[in-house]
Amino acid sequence: MMGLVSCICLFMALKITEIEAKSILSKSKVQPYVVNAYRGCQHGCSFCYARFMKRVTGHEEPWGDFVDVKINAAELLRREIRKKQPGRVWVSGVCDPYQPLEVRYRLTRACLEILLSNGWPVSIQTRSALVLRDIDLLRCAPGVEVGFSISTADDRIRRIFEPHAPTIGSRIMALEDLHRAGIRTFVMVAPVLPGAEGLAELLRGKIDSLLCDRMNYHYADRLYREHGLEYARTDEYYRKVAEALGGRWVGRG
Ligand code: SF4
Repeated sequence: MMGLVSCICLFMALKITEIEAKSILSKSKVQPYVVNAYRGCQHGCSFCYARFMKRVTGHEEPWGDFVDVKINAAELLRREIRKKQPGRVWVSGVCDPYQPLEVRYRLTRACLEILLSNGWPVSIQTRSALVLRDIDLLRCAPGVEVGFSISTADDRIRRIFEPHAPTIGSRIMALEDLHRAGIRTFVMVAPVLPGAEGLAELLRGKIDSLLCDRMNYHYADRLYREHGLEYARTDEYYRKVAEALGGRWVGRG
């Protein structure tokens, strides 16, 4: 799928590789299309389902320690949307579109400019308030929704499972700003982590919809054990969260 590696540089433990992708607008099971301007994610969450990208890309660094930057993402997208039927685009599926490198590369913004100016609907999903940088684009476009992934209301739990992701407070504040700006907002509580039930209070009046899914894979088992949190993987706990949040449960919980 990918072409030439044009530049490799090391910044602390992070290996950044600029690449020329061969395509950018892919089919998806979640939305008709998905755009991932990066391969790899600096947030490096312990439970991340996208860590299979390590295998796919042949990276040997730990998940979170490498990012391939598709420097030709905008150029490709401009070409590809001319050949495809318009449909909702998920931004993004296997990386956070607003991970810290987006400040420097602005690829997500460039892709949004192309999609929105051509009238394609977009669903953004992120853990970062950096999305607010693009509020000028988002507030004028019909068919835009912005979702935050928030798995717990408790920042101590966030530090155990996703220590490199932005704080819960910053996400809640960003949601409030987006919602006030008239942009449709949602929250994805997936995977449900300990302390998720507290989100009901924090999210009140800031979102249009909420989706939940339980932790149904094993990447973070060690953390649950080490921190005595196994109670939060029981059916009883997931039921309690479902009742508290009243969200749409997308998994088997
Ligand atoms: S922010 Fe999303 S894509 Fe990035 S590591 Fe965390 S779960 Fe994975």
